[in-house]
Amino acid sequence: MTEIAEEIAQVRFTVESARARRQSIGFVPTMGALHAGHARLIERCREEARFTVVSLFVNPTQFGPNEDFTSYPRTWDEDLCVASAAGADLLFRPSVEAMYPSGRLSTYVEPGSLSTVLEGRSRPGHFRGVATVVLKLFQIVQPDFAYFGEKDYQQLLVIRRIVDDLNVPVAVRSVPTVREPDGLAMSSRNRYLSPAERQAALVLSRALGAARDVVLRGEHDANRIRQTLAETVKYEQLAELDYAEVADAGSLEPLVEIETGRRAVALLAVRIGGTRLIDNAILME
Ligand code: AMP
Repeated sequence: MTEIAEEIAQVRFTVESARARRQSIGFVPTMGALHAGHARLIERCREEARFTVVSLFVNPTQFGPNEDFTSYPRTWDEDLCVASAAGADLLFRPSVEAMYPSGRLSTYVEPGSLSTVLEGRSRPGHFRGVATVVLKLFQIVQPDFAYFGEKDYQQLLVIRRIVDDLNVPVAVRSVPTVREPDGLAMSSRNRYLSPAERQAALVLSRALGAARDVVLRGEHDANRIRQTLAETVKYEQLAELDYAEVADAGSLEPLVEIETGRRAVALLAVRIGGTRLIDNAILME
């Protein structure tokens, strides 16, 4: 049985009870509109932690003024089914008022240089919102383990950095991106896509595949790999490139050359009609 909590006090009480039973606590933060990617995170959590907490919270502070906070899909009934089937013990679904009682906070977490590039440049304030809400959720749930998807690669690095910098006593685990059979990375925002846009959205995984192929064929010049990414996207009429980057997989510093022994990642953000999608792939382990 999955317990549902809307109040912070109930979460604290239930988690404390689990701890009193000597159960370890795992945590999967989400914005709801759950899909198989989220389910995989919950399953991973179940494998490692004895008690699994999942939060569903569409966090207003991580959306820009012209972004999709209001239209973001809210599918509570289905979310409950997905989370229960995946094995969640506790679903935390706070209201905006519960998380931001007087409408706003006077304290925010400001992540450093990892958060000012790529997504951070395209979405100013986004990672400050993410960092703050994740730290708040960590303080409420106090998990031993927390699970994040590699799909949001930069977010994963930002969270790891906050946990290190602020000595948060949680082990951050990353989970590989879950994809549709045709390669599209699962995302709650895929629901926005029309059938034609859904087809066009394949350009992200296709471009990353092309980048991986040129690296496998010996291309190490990062600019030429960026060009491969950008040109693949350009070829798709419904797609508009936001960024195509080849970066150090730990620092996100843009690379000049791909080198053996230095992990490298390709990161893409593309607009398909009104929908902005991101994806990434490791180019060098
Ligand atoms: P969201 O609800 O989009 O904020 O995502 C909640 C968590 O699920 C984040 O850690 C995401 O990185 C992760 N996630 C989203 N989509 C996927 C996916 N396709 N595969 C794996 N993890 C994902």
